[in-house]
Amino acid sequence: MTKPVVRFAPSPTGSLHVGNVRTALINWLFARGQGGSFILRIDDTDTERSTAEYEDGIRRDLTWLGLTWDKTFKQSERFAEYAAAADKLREAGLLYPCYETSDELDRQRKVQRAKGRPPIYNRDALDLSDTDKAKLETEGRKPHWRFKLSGNRVEWTDLVRGPQSIATSSLSDPVLIRADGSYLYTLPSCVDDIEAGVTHVVRGEDHVTNSGAQIEIFEALGGAAPAMAHTPLLVGADGSGLSKRLGSLGMDTLRSDGIEPIAICSLLGKLGTSDNVEIRDSLVQLADEFDFGKIGRSPARFDETELLGLNAALVHAMDFETVRTRLAALSPDAVNEAFWLLVRENCQTVEDAGKFVPVVFGDVTPIIIDEDQDFIAAAARLLPEGEMTADTWGTWTGALKTETGRKGRGLFMPLRHALTGMERGPGVADTLVLMGRDRALKRLIS
Ligand code: GLU
Repeated sequence: MTKPVVRFAPSPTGSLHVGNVRTALINWLFARGQGGSFILRIDDTDTERSTAEYEDGIRRDLTWLGLTWDKTFKQSERFAEYAAAADKLREAGLLYPCYETSDELDRQRKVQRAKGRPPIYNRDALDLSDTDKAKLETEGRKPHWRFKLSGNRVEWTDLVRGPQSIATSSLSDPVLIRADGSYLYTLPSCVDDIEAGVTHVVRGEDHVTNSGAQIEIFEALGGAAPAMAHTPLLVGADGSGLSKRLGSLGMDTLRSDGIEPIAICSLLGKLGTSDNVEIRDSLVQLADEFDFGKIGRSPARFDETELLGLNAALVHAMDFETVRTRLAALSPDAVNEAFWLLVRENCQTVEDAGKFVPVVFGDVTPIIIDEDQDFIAAAARLLPEGEMTADTWGTWTGALKTETGRKGRGLFMPLRHALTGMERGPGVADTLVLMGRDRALKRLIS
């Protein structure tokens, strides 16, 4: 098989969110797994809504995720090529000017619906004579341009959806160029795919219906249509469409929430596939395991809790050197291997370690309820002298048990609350060793 060339083609009109990152990732994994190349194409023909900030953000987020590209370009730099392709279609009689206003088109569709007919463009503009067109233009009307579909069936074998067949007679001739001369996405996408030698168009299922027209445009421009793969969309955990929050769940939010790139990629690379969702070591591993045949037909459910669970599993196994600089950003005290090994299992993110810094190295407000006052006073009295060691906890609680008769939770929990000021956290025995005797005693007699 020739090496695949794929492209991820976001519009810089917003930030990358879990939905389009999944598309980027699937493209990347497929290309890398086959030794092919991955192009980042910025679809910025909508010059009003596209911004340099969003474009920079897309590049930053992809880089952060590890989804690096072999080549990148922007559509806004290629208007001359699109104009040349439009000319070619015009010469072939496949791109024709239309003068209807959007109100007129709306009315047309209403009438069609009322008659029980599908609201497909009626192609009236094809009957306009040169004189008619000249007259409309002197009235100040500017044409928009539609591609003339063949009316035949377009067929392809989708790598995810299997055999597909679209009757182009059931579609409106798509508008390729607006009245103001700007391009809709359809034509530039085909022109670029041909020129960049894209072998596989891999994108979300919402683009399936565009494929009918696009395949005809590829052919009209003299290129063979690339292979196509349309993946089911992501839905929320409850099966409904991605909620507003998830739909906009941006990489910047996930990054500042301390979610690791490989946790995101492990989840998005496996959601909706026949493989288990669990942490993978690297993108390379994900790429090795990637296969379009594993992607199911039903929508993939994205659950933020699952993402946090994967992240936690990753964090629990991280060694100290991996997190050293991130701990340093939390506090100089946190740069301590014993501390990290103590707290990591209680962290869902590396940054969660920050909340345990005061417990071990600083001050906390002990929690001591009234009925535990005497018990905690006894604990302070019986706290073994000298350095706190691995044996201290056992000796201390043994003595306390004998003196107070308390055992189990009634014995441990008040100590945890007093020593850490927290309901939950790392094992108290080990925490005691790290915090040291002075700090412990101060909290018991506070
Ligand atoms: N800019 C288009 C989008 O973001 C690209 C679609 C495609 O991959 O062809 O939806």
